[in-house]
Amino acid sequence: RLVSNSRPIHARIDLAALRHNYLVAKRHAPAARAFAVVKADAYGHGLQRAARALGPVADGFALLDLGEAITLRDAGIRQPIVLLEGLFAPGDVAVCADYDLRPAIHCREQIAMLRAAPPGVRLAVGLKINSGMNRLGFLPAEAPAVLAELQSLPAVASVMLMSHFANADDARGVDWQLERLAPLVAGFPGEISFANSAAILRHTKAAHDWVRPGIMLYGGSPFSDASAASFDLRPAMTLTSRIIGVQQIGAGERVGYGGLFEATRPTRVGVVACGYADGYPRHAPGGTPILVDGVRTATLGRVSMDMLACDLSALPGAGIGSTVTLWGEGLPADEVAAAAGTISYELFCALARRVPVSDV
Ligand code: PLP
Repeated sequence: RLVSNSRPIHARIDLAALRHNYLVAKRHAPAARAFAVVKADAYGHGLQRAARALGPVADGFALLDLGEAITLRDAGIRQPIVLLEGLFAPGDVAVCADYDLRPAIHCREQIAMLRAAPPGVRLAVGLKINSGMNRLGFLPAEAPAVLAELQSLPAVASVMLMSHFANADDARGVDWQLERLAPLVAGFPGEISFANSAAILRHTKAAHDWVRPGIMLYGGSPFSDASAASFDLRPAMTLTSRIIGVQQIGAGERVGYGGLFEATRPTRVGVVACGYADGYPRHAPGGTPILVDGVRTATLGRVSMDMLACDLSALPGAGIGSTVTLWGEGLPADEVAAAAGTISYELFCALARRVPVSDV
């Protein structure tokens, strides 16, 4: 297979920024320990890279796949690892025992898997409560009976109370869910973990024993009304490429598929080696911010599979070979995401396999 390694697109992951951002989470929840949420290949940043950056500082890790959990163990991670969606198949119980993984139990089918565990298996598990998000978990009213059932199983060594917030990042906040959880929290015979990044940053009373920062580790803001920088978070992923083509067009000429951009005056168009096959959102409209040689300009027209266009009219010195930053250092992914009608989570997770990644 021929692999082009000179196409100029590249993602750089700043391991020091990951570590720094984890410590920002710890500062906001000083009495809690923190599971670094590294699901989805560490939100597209690379699980092994995240393990290297966070292994020396993190209290624990949280993810979904057994395969990813085993990757962490193989990378030397000895801290607690929580499986946020629990068990998918009966055989997962033995794997959890072998690799010391803590499944969050959210339905009766998973309790049945624990009941059928091989003799000698002892797991720390989570008890996941649906406190209003209506995604995963037992209702608060069911929780006392489920807790008693879990505690009666030989395979269960301890139970951590878990729930997830639907509105920690918006005006509805977390109080309405905390009220539903309050009867369980009082006197719960184990540790408690509720808070995602938004709750860590704005609802410190929700921190309890373990917080679960995700997006903030990667330097994304969970809020639409506050930048990551305002919380002292640093971008972990910087996606760069270069200008590979330049076109000088006159008024009335159009750019790209569908000709969505029409020049109203002479315009110098830069063509960037980055398209939706690299993970750049196709639905990012013309006008999305982009840096060329460190200077902010805007995209023009529709994003293609391998290229996108940007306005070089105010950058006479820019040309083929000029450096382009799609997001990261100097251009928050949150701004690009907002322009594209999405969130930085999606940009990071969508980074395509064909983009070479390295770390600093
Ligand atoms: N906890 C659970 C159960 C999650 O599903 C997630 C992410 O979706 C997180 C924590 C981390 O959330 P965030 O990335 O918003 O910090």
